Amino acid sequence: MNTASRPDVRRNASPYLYGPETGAVARVLESGQYGHTDVTEEFERRVAGFLGVPDAVAVASGTAALHAALLAAKVGPGDEVIVPSMTFCATIQAILAVGATPKFVDVDPATLCVTDQLVMEAVSDTTSAVIPVLFGGRAVPLASVRDELAERSITVIEDAAHAFGSRDGTCRVGTTGSLTCFSFGPIKNLTCGQGGMVIPRTPEEADTIRRLRLLGITQSQGERANTTTYRVGTFGLRYQLSAINAAIGLAQLDHFNTTEHTRRRLWRTYQQALAPLDSVTLVDVDADHSLPHLCQVRVPHRDQVFADLRARDIGVGVHYPPNHLQPAFATWHRPLPATEHAGAEILSLPFHQHLTETGIDHVVSALAQALKTSGGA
Ligand SMILES: *Cc1c(COP(=O)(O)O)cnc(C)c1O
Repeated sequence: MNTASRPDVRRNASPYLYGPETGAVARVLESGQYGHTDVTEEFERRVAGFLGVPDAVAVASGTAALHAALLAAKVGPGDEVIVPSMTFCATIQAILAVGATPKFVDVDPATLCVTDQLVMEAVSDTTSAVIPVLFGGRAVPLASVRDELAERSITVIEDAAHAFGSRDGTCRVGTTGSLTCFSFGPIKNLTCGQGGMVIPRTPEEADTIRRLRLLGITQSQGERANTTTYRVGTFGLRYQLSAINAAIGLAQLDHFNTTEHTRRRLWRTYQQALAPLDSVTLVDVDADHSLPHLCQVRVPHRDQVFADLRARDIGVGVHYPPNHLQPAFATWHRPLPATEHAGAEILSLPFHQHLTETGIDHVVSALAQALKTSGGA
């Protein structure tokens, strides 16, 4: 066994800084203003400009973005929300946070995304929203059912935590008219350290989320400075994006074309290197359109292969253990054969911008050896 440790393959995911992030954070620290400031608002304008949408509302995390979007769409107790079990647990927790009921649906085994048909089969009279998860960065257009969902007043809220920079055909994800939620967490395609963004459908939705994220306080900081009180106009939470985090995002956005180029190149390098391995199926993220977030394969004897690669100091991961099998979500369990099957086979290979081509070769040959040892190849 080749146990030579390579730093670029040791982590499954890792943030990539271009350099100016450090100075940008230092300038905010020196300014003494760390909360929601004009830096946050500049980041909102820059993201909106990058996507080509009228508005974007920054929040503290992707989870906060999903929670705020559900509240803005007026989803609440008694409502059912259709969601794939194959997602990060944050998607489900956001649904529970508004008191709604998750209705877990299966996914297409090839993409790990929901399909139009799977969504429509799950729709009931109490369905008020669908949250397609743009798995690995792949757009989920729901093209053939959008009108029907709209007619039934079912809101589509895209969990685009993996998909900042991806395209749905020729349009960027976030520009197709759905309420869209991005995450700028540490390992996402663009990072703020922590952060998130909602792309609202209307100015009213934008206003709702802007009030919500500042504890429902309805004055600006400038107005508050000149009065002896403040006005709490509505329910709200501390969901603002701090200027410290926004500054990181702004610096990252300046280099986003390099991010796009690098992630796509690395994904294609994996695609080529993995092609000769017969027992390995690459989960297709549609790299022509998407900005790949994960490099995920399906393998036989996954647990053995995982342990073997970990022993070789290779940062493999599993995205994700199905949510309908989690103890916290057991109430909403229903059998989901494709998800359960995938859950036992998926393996995420190291995928981040510190990877080199030689690192990818190293991972793929280790994978080939691990499959041989496990009897899977
Ligand atoms: C990361 C992630 C989230 C949550 O985003 P945070 O910024 O970590 O709160 C939600 N959904 C999916 C699919 C994610 O990967």
